[in-house]
Amino acid sequence: MTDKYAKIVSKGLGKDVAKRLGLPQPVELRRHQPGAPLIDGPVLVNGDSRGADDLATTLLGWGLDVRRHALPKEKLGAIIVVLDAVQHPEDLGKPVLTIGASLRDLAPNGRVITLSRTAGSASGPASAAARQGVDGLLRSLAKELRAGATANGLLLDADLATTSPSALGALRFFLSGRSAYVDGQFLTISSSSGSLPFDAEKPLAGKVAVVTGAARGIGAAIARTLHRDGAKVVLVDVPAAGDHLAAVANEVRGTALQLDITRDDAGHRIIDHAVERHGRLDVVVHNAGITRDRLLANMDERRWQSVIAVNIAAQLRINEALLASEHFKERPRIVSVASTSGIAGNRGQTNYAASKGGVIGMVRLTAPLMESFGGTINAVAPGFIETEMTARMPFVIREAARRANSLRQGGQPRDVAEAIAFLASDAAGGISGEVLRVCGQQLVGA
Ligand code: NAD
Repeated sequence: MTDKYAKIVSKGLGKDVAKRLGLPQPVELRRHQPGAPLIDGPVLVNGDSRGADDLATTLLGWGLDVRRHALPKEKLGAIIVVLDAVQHPEDLGKPVLTIGASLRDLAPNGRVITLSRTAGSASGPASAAARQGVDGLLRSLAKELRAGATANGLLLDADLATTSPSALGALRFFLSGRSAYVDGQFLTISSSSGSLPFDAEKPLAGKVAVVTGAARGIGAAIARTLHRDGAKVVLVDVPAAGDHLAAVANEVRGTALQLDITRDDAGHRIIDHAVERHGRLDVVVHNAGITRDRLLANMDERRWQSVIAVNIAAQLRINEALLASEHFKERPRIVSVASTSGIAGNRGQTNYAASKGGVIGMVRLTAPLMESFGGTINAVAPGFIETEMTARMPFVIREAARRANSLRQGGQPRDVAEAIAFLASDAAGGISGEVLRVCGQQLVGA
């Protein structure tokens, strides 16, 4: 679906009027194109710790144009702020004010990325205060950036190195156009597991991935993105969506499995199909979801139960089958689609928010169950995404929801798909039990 307002205010008279009236002026976001550079322009690595030096050396090895100090008037593609050694809130001022001075030189669609440590692994109140302070400052900075630029942070657990595989994997994701609609967010790296791909364009080469709800919308975009990244894809959807499912499956040269995921045997059907047709199963993306909105005062049992059944109960049952299967033991990945409604709440969506909050709880407690065999499970929480679901919203509510984020626009299904593809890759092996919002930094709610 097209965002006509964004087109009108992007040039000519519309642009002038929007500027004069102080109206939102969304810009076209830099999205990943195969073969495109990771980032356009020099990358400033700020910080004087050993972790900053090591990171700068690694980025030089990637062929990036790295600076340790900003040059006057030079446009920067990205600013990376390494805060891994801060021990007290008073330590934050110098590095943070230094990047403040460089922000005017940040190019459109540029990136600010912080690397710091989790507050939970701090040794005392002062270092916890400094680490938690990074959270507040990054989220505020993301709200100040303009022209499609984003700010996101990596949180390293305990004493993990700034160059641990998933720190580098997440850094690549945040620098690239794959994270176009991720803004004001953190990813926690909890272990040194994971590895960067041999071919950055095919990080899922050799993997077999299942996507539920793949006949249309976000699910179809996930299937296309996983295929682009080298995976063989199994596309699952209800029999009623069979024609659309077959069309997307043909397009991505995958196989279609007509299946209602609420069936008791859904997990086994998925495993059997993947193994019989493709010889293995590496990734499961729980994307299928439904809404049956009503104020709670008007909610009936059928609406409540059907949303819980599809959006969370089916995932729990399928995961049980996956975890019990000998075919899902080689560093497998589960990525589940939650929603910002499950975090911040949304009027008329008590059932949906209960199911999506449920996804987040499920992911946190399933993560330790997958650790012993190198498996990970994470959730992605989309905000306002341009799909048939959001196209059905009344005009005024839709327009308000679309602009109520730092990037002043809705996301595309492919933005959600890119985050899922990253979490499904070997490069994210050190990230588990996390929820990554793909919401342009929604301004409403938590
Ligand atoms: P959509 O309605 O366009 O597509 C959902 C797909 O899931 C459909 O093809 C449908 O047939 C399938 N499905 C439904 N029930 C099923 C079942 N029992 N078994 C198998 N397949 C089933 O929705 P979408 O907008 O693409 O959303 C995809 C996911 O993203 C959902 O989990 C949704 O809750 C979530 N989400 C969407 C948005 C948004 O803005 N569109 C925002 C946050 C979260």
